[in-house]
Amino acid sequence: TSAQIGVTGLAVMGRNLARNFARNGYTVAVHNRTVSRTQALMDEFGHEGDFVAAESAKEFVAALERPRRLVIMVKAGGPTDAVIHEFAPLLESGDMIIDGGNAHFEDTRRREKELRDRGIHFVGTGISGGEEGALHGPSIMPGGSGESYASLGPMLEKIAAKAPDGAPCVTHVGPDGAGHFVKMVHNGIEYADMQLIAEAYQLLRDVGGYSPRQIADIFRTWNQGRLDSYLIEITAEVLSHQDAMTDEPFVDVVQDQAEQKGTGRWTVQIALDLGVPVSGIAEAVFARSLSGHTDLRKASRGLAGPKAQPLDRDEAGRFADQVEQALYASKIVSYTQGFHEIAAGSQEYGWDIDLGAIASIWRGGCIIRAAFLDRIRTAYDARPDLPSLLADQGFAREIGTAQDDWRAVLVAATQQGVPTPGFSAALAYYDALRAERLPAALTQGQRDFFGAHTYRRTDREGSFHTRWGGDRAEVSA
Ligand code: NDP
Repeated sequence: TSAQIGVTGLAVMGRNLARNFARNGYTVAVHNRTVSRTQALMDEFGHEGDFVAAESAKEFVAALERPRRLVIMVKAGGPTDAVIHEFAPLLESGDMIIDGGNAHFEDTRRREKELRDRGIHFVGTGISGGEEGALHGPSIMPGGSGESYASLGPMLEKIAAKAPDGAPCVTHVGPDGAGHFVKMVHNGIEYADMQLIAEAYQLLRDVGGYSPRQIADIFRTWNQGRLDSYLIEITAEVLSHQDAMTDEPFVDVVQDQAEQKGTGRWTVQIALDLGVPVSGIAEAVFARSLSGHTDLRKASRGLAGPKAQPLDRDEAGRFADQVEQALYASKIVSYTQGFHEIAAGSQEYGWDIDLGAIASIWRGGCIIRAAFLDRIRTAYDARPDLPSLLADQGFAREIGTAQDDWRAVLVAATQQGVPTPGFSAALAYYDALRAERLPAALTQGQRDFFGAHTYRRTDREGSFHTRWGGDRAEVSA
């Protein structure tokens, strides 16, 4: 038998992806460096569909129909290069290597180029949805050539999650590294979403005086409305969970140091290079980093803070509604920033990414799936050249309606000493963008003063310099 697709790397992701292909009727060749993993897959799930177990790379490649489609699901970085170097010499012109790991898009660009020179299609593919998504339908973000997508697309459409309207959550994102770039920004937005939800939780607890269980109920209510999303849903689950050992709320027995694997950090690093202000995503990455600095936190514990003034019941109820507004408004801002970064990346690398299609494939399967994404899709479909999500009338209206409550929440947070880096950065971005004049004019004056860096005038073309150290006359630069 010849397999239509092969998966090498059978840890949690690869194993479930292979099962997903098999459950959809494909014959799947499976391979793993350590053979026992392949054997375990066959023993446990071999009955689910048509698998061809391969012990060696040669056997694996021989099991695939041509042109070959070979999915790599191994640790990103060095291991991915090692696996490519193992398989590439065994492949022929027209074959496809699909890297479904969390690769950095620059690595994907490099690998794609190297393999293209040998006639092999390298398809860097972002896959989101974790273990469960891989099995039941992830959101899939493939890059690479259009030719490879013509061959792979129908298979990916079968195994992908389906959005509420039935559309498969996969699209050809663009050439070379486009898919991994978009997956990177997806994860950056995910960091921001999580941070904003965490801030909402802490405000409800410390300012509103609610218990974790009560907050879970508030989140469940929110999940019926415009905040309807996977992350809000699981947040309610986590908050209502009670630790069996201590009978305390689970959130109170977990160490408050958030970890990260790097995709959020990459999103910010690349944004800095592209000159895109992703302040909300950056604050989310920094918040995790700050939480991990235990020594610094310990050393700062005695610092003065405000006296807490607990709200009464009615006030707390009103406050919870305001926090919903603040969370929604901040969420609009972090998506605005994330989509800006995708647009900038697309421009820089010539990817021609369809932003509406990206919003569409994030509606199901992935971690940030949410009703909200349908709105974003509609906004870009109506106006593909939308310069910013905030320029969409619908979002502008909603954020305008939310702004008073958003500000009130930040006043309360500041007065009570609750840190809200995500909410605050989002509001600062919003206020800066809508400002008639920014103090950047003063910054330009300072730069010209100490470094003769010149400035432009509002009323005349050209660059100018003021002779600050001399007669203070203005000269054309
Ligand atoms: P891991 O990232 O833990 O990787 C383990 C797999 O990599 C094993 O199959 C292992 O083989 C193989 N491997 C490691 N080094 C080598 C090497 N030098 N040569 C050959 N094989 C090697 O597995 P996951 O399933 O968690 O993730 C796979 C990929 O998917 C990663 O890139 C990850 O970032 C990405 N991803 C993960 C998600 C998740 O939720 N876990 C979500 C989305 C993407 P062996 O058994 O022989 O050790």
